Amino acid sequence: MKQNTLKSARYSPLFFIRCCVQYFVGWLLHNANRDIPFLAKSEFYELKTHLLKKYATKVGTDIQHIKKDCWSCDSTGVFKSDWKMPETCWSCLGTGVYEEFWTRLDKYKLGKWYFHSPVERMYKYEPLFDGEALPIIEGYIHHKAPKYRLGKECALWLFLLFDRKTFLKELGRTGSPTHKRTPLVIIGNAIFVFRHFDWRDYLPKKKPKYDFKYNKNKLPF
Ligand SMILES: [Zn+2]
Repeated sequence: MKQNTLKSARYSPLFFIRCCVQYFVGWLLHNANRDIPFLAKSEFYELKTHLLKKYATKVGTDIQHIKKDCWSCDSTGVFKSDWKMPETCWSCLGTGVYEEFWTRLDKYKLGKWYFHSPVERMYKYEPLFDGEALPIIEGYIHHKAPKYRLGKECALWLFLLFDRKTFLKELGRTGSPTHKRTPLVIIGNAIFVFRHFDWRDYLPKKKPKYDFKYNKNKLPF
């Protein structure tokens, strides 16, 4: 009986709508996630966490290891210079490592995409077990920005749908000189240009005059 109810729920229109919403939000988030530096970063990550909790399914946990080498001593731990004797590096206290930490990331699936959401930063490695110790992701996860400022477009749509205040703040705050092919980026760019419009730029300008007359005999060289 229970199984029958589940089966009918799977084919109900509401279930179908929910799947569509999940796919759409997942697609927006996937693109926006790859091109955030131009937009409100903290607001975006806040929204991302909120959307993942609301729409996505948690599928596991990963651990990310970040190790930053010390630049002051070229990660040797010894500071060398021309003007004093070599000494223990002050930046890393002789370890050669500027900073090292492990971040616990919750892994979510939304639509057909996977996302990570940081939960906790640890300065000492504590292995997490899921049957066996979880594998470690080394370094930061790099994303390739999508074409045509599609990332910015999707981020703007997410803000428009879920965070109207940030949307109004961000739309037109920065211009996009190239790849304007999507509606909100085009509108945002137009607002940016309108805001920075100065009619004085369009007045005929006086040519600056330079006086090059000089007496050859009076030059100091
Ligand atoms: Zn150092």
